[in-house]
Amino acid sequence: MIERFQGTDRVCAAYRQGREQPRDNYALCVLSPQTSGATFPEPAPLNLSPKTGSAKAETPGYEFPGAIGNEESGLGRLRKQWFSSNDQLVTLGFTGGPPAGWQLARSFSAVIVNHNNTTGQNMIDNEPLLAQFANEGFPVEQIHCARFTPAAYDVCAKHGVHISIAGAIEMQMGHGMPPYQACLNRGILPSLSSDVDTNMTPDMFTLMRTAFTCQRALLHQRALPANQQGGTPMGPPVQPGEKLLTSYQVLQMATWSGAVAAGLGSKVGRLVPGLEADVIVLNARSLNTWPLNNAPGAIVTMMDTSNVDTVIIGGTIKKQAGKLVGVNEEKLLKDIEAARDRVLARINGPATGSNTNAIYQFLNSMGSPYRPAFLRSCCIAPVMNVGVYNASPGTGA
Ligand SMILES: [Zn+2]
Repeated sequence: MIERFQGTDRVCAAYRQGREQPRDNYALCVLSPQTSGATFPEPAPLNLSPKTGSAKAETPGYEFPGAIGNEESGLGRLRKQWFSSNDQLVTLGFTGGPPAGWQLARSFSAVIVNHNNTTGQNMIDNEPLLAQFANEGFPVEQIHCARFTPAAYDVCAKHGVHISIAGAIEMQMGHGMPPYQACLNRGILPSLSSDVDTNMTPDMFTLMRTAFTCQRALLHQRALPANQQGGTPMGPPVQPGEKLLTSYQVLQMATWSGAVAAGLGSKVGRLVPGLEADVIVLNARSLNTWPLNNAPGAIVTMMDTSNVDTVIIGGTIKKQAGKLVGVNEEKLLKDIEAARDRVLARINGPATGSNTNAIYQFLNSMGSPYRPAFLRSCCIAPVMNVGVYNASPGTGA
């Protein structure tokens, strides 16, 4: 089996994605069955402890999933070795499905996080477990949920299951229509997932605008009289209680709701006394927002990452005056580049180093270049091969 990803590659990837999500569930990567075949023989180039909120490569890596009561291997080892305290910046999560995966996660207090692109029958079938977790205050997060039946959403709402929607990715890849409305209609305020950061930016401004515009577009369309909906009916007429999302609600989805999903609602996600100091300072005195007249509206509908002035995580300043603190960006770029070269070399031939000419060997030739599966799904098989447009702009102005 080809070793596509080594420890240092994973650390580079975690850093790249983690720039937007500093409290990342990195341990998920180490134990994910999707990494089977991966080994971690190298020393980590970015050797930082999870206690500082960063990732660390391990040797060896593949021991998924572990077993209840076993602290020597798998999830139990991670809990014992790296997560003896809950007072740290990285949270232990687990992707195993129900019922065995959920029970294993619960036994080691690892937050349950499943990418769920089924009809949600597994929610209905495991309702007793969900009821137990709800009773214990143990968080369960389900990502996507775009194909759930109404009954599956009902079970989630009944037992406080958190739904996280990766709107931009779901629309691009075909998971189904992002289910903002199904969640809101049941009193669930979903959080915003970035999901696949290799083919869509994980920045929160994009995720917020996706939620804001998608939910409103679908509802606006349904609010049109039938004879004005043209060729794009989007569902039944708007029902009593169905409302447009506000910018403030979208901000809550991006902050507090995400914290709750990760089991961190009592630590971060809101600016209130007693919670840890996770603060983002946004500069509104900027040409893309000024003159500001509504703070949530300016953030959700106008701002982008250039407006991020200062980031404080757990009381430590990580970004100041728009610059990352304590990060050698040029070195990090080179580390990422080297990781790319190693991955391509392992896939396609013996090429090493940063010589891009050397990468074009064997299967990765100029005539038949290696093509990463940019538009494939993170967690679903394609339903159909839809193809791409070959459309004309027409002759109008
Ligand atoms: Zn996914």
